[in-house]
Amino acid sequence: MSNAKYNGCSRPFDVYQFISTGTLAGEIAVFLTCLLPSFSGREQVVASLIQGTLLLFVGSSWLMATFSDPTDETLKRFRTSARPEVDALFEHISANIAQYSYCTACQSFTEKGSKHCRRCNRCVSGFDHHCKWLNNCVGRANYRLFLAVLASVTLFACAFLFWGIYSFARFVRDPDYFRSFVSGVLSRSSMRSFTSSTWSPKTPESSRDPASPWGR
Ligand SMILES: [Zn+2]
Ligand SMILES: [Zn+2]
Repeated sequence: MSNAKYNGCSRPFDVYQFISTGTLAGEIAVFLTCLLPSFSGREQVVASLIQGTLLLFVGSSWLMATFSDPTDETLKRFRTSARPEVDALFEHISANIAQYSYCTACQSFTEKGSKHCRRCNRCVSGFDHHCKWLNNCVGRANYRLFLAVLASVTLFACAFLFWGIYSFARFVRDPDYFRSFVSGVLSRSSMRSFTSSTWSPKTPESSRDPASPWGR
């Protein structure tokens, strides 16, 4: 059982974890660089508050679901308990054998109804499915957290889509606004490239110390 997973941060990581994190980061970047600058001051405050709150909801539920451990409770006790407690657990299971199963893969007694996840190499109580996006099993212990992730991600994506359509509709309604927005973006980027090309962290001639090797 040394290669068994405990939560979504146990290795190996799943490529879907990186895809989902990258998608979320991309949405945040588009929101901050393209959508938000196209709004008026009051709209920016409202959009930032809504999207920020939803992002907090996504982040907290995502982290809690990733770090949750839905491993079968009996299996967990066998793994973590000291010898006397394991002996007592064996006695309890012998007296109530109908409530338990034996998993040959885990080489341990587990609760009746638990299922073995081959990806995680462990039994999970109330197993629902293995989520690639979280790199974790979804079972009785974290099913509500999984639903919270689904709800928060859906709301975040819907709000993002709404701001995109809202911004696009304004550009369609008002071509002048679109032109001024584009010229504003272009002038900002050209100003940035001008600043980076002309500014360098060199010491001004007047303040150079001739004795210093940097002053030459
Ligand atoms: Zn198992
Ligand atoms: Zn799993």
